[in-house]
Amino acid sequence: MNNLDRAAAAIRRAPRVAVLTGAGISVASGIPDFRSAAGLWSRYDPLEYATLRAFRRDPRKVWRMLAEMLEVLEAARPNAAHRALVHLETAGVVQGIVTQNIDGLHQQAGSATVLEFHGGCRSLSCLGCGRRYTRGEARALGLPPPCGCGALLKPDIVFFGEMIPDGLFDASRRLTARCAVLLVVGTSAEVAPANQLPWIAKQHGATVVELNVEETQLTGTVTDIFVQGPAEATVHALAAAVSGE
Ligand SMILES: [Zn+2]
Repeated sequence: MNNLDRAAAAIRRAPRVAVLTGAGISVASGIPDFRSAAGLWSRYDPLEYATLRAFRRDPRKVWRMLAEMLEVLEAARPNAAHRALVHLETAGVVQGIVTQNIDGLHQQAGSATVLEFHGGCRSLSCLGCGRRYTRGEARALGLPPPCGCGALLKPDIVFFGEMIPDGLFDASRRLTARCAVLLVVGTSAEVAPANQLPWIAKQHGATVVELNVEETQLTGTVTDIFVQGPAEATVHALAAAVSGE
């Protein structure tokens, strides 16, 4: 039995499955990993462009980076991996997804339970008065989008050094603590506190299935079954194997 079949067998036996996703699942949607050589952080120093302090100091400067980021994110469409996870959720197999991505592609594909660990680009908030805007409302305001109060809006993404939104870590921990299988897709889960989630699942007796292009620090430590390949191929094949197709 190969690792894909072993993973499918584990999922078929599991009453609850949770998923942790990262940048690797969206590469085929046209979003390069921000931390890769071609990524955003090779051209914009995150400490200078992606901290709350930087935004408060010079929001116009930070918006030059944000405009480029949003352009890439908005052009992206869900791929076969996002769709396969929708299929597994609809079939009652997957209970929820914790994603480190801010691209909103899980929701765009149709996944219902998505915990956006680092926030998302689909809404914006005013740091001056707290008013929230949808992306569509903000787009109509131009770039960078001003709030009615005069301050500039900031996408509801978690900047470097910012806390994970209230309750989100607890909800993510509950989801992973209760699953019998955790799928880790397209991430090496090195960034805290998301890096705790595979271990939390493991401590509660879950089987950890890792789907990545290359082995990571998870492989051989927390991972029970490693399935190698790009997410759009492996997640799709896994969902098909689980459904017996
Ligand atoms: Zn405002």
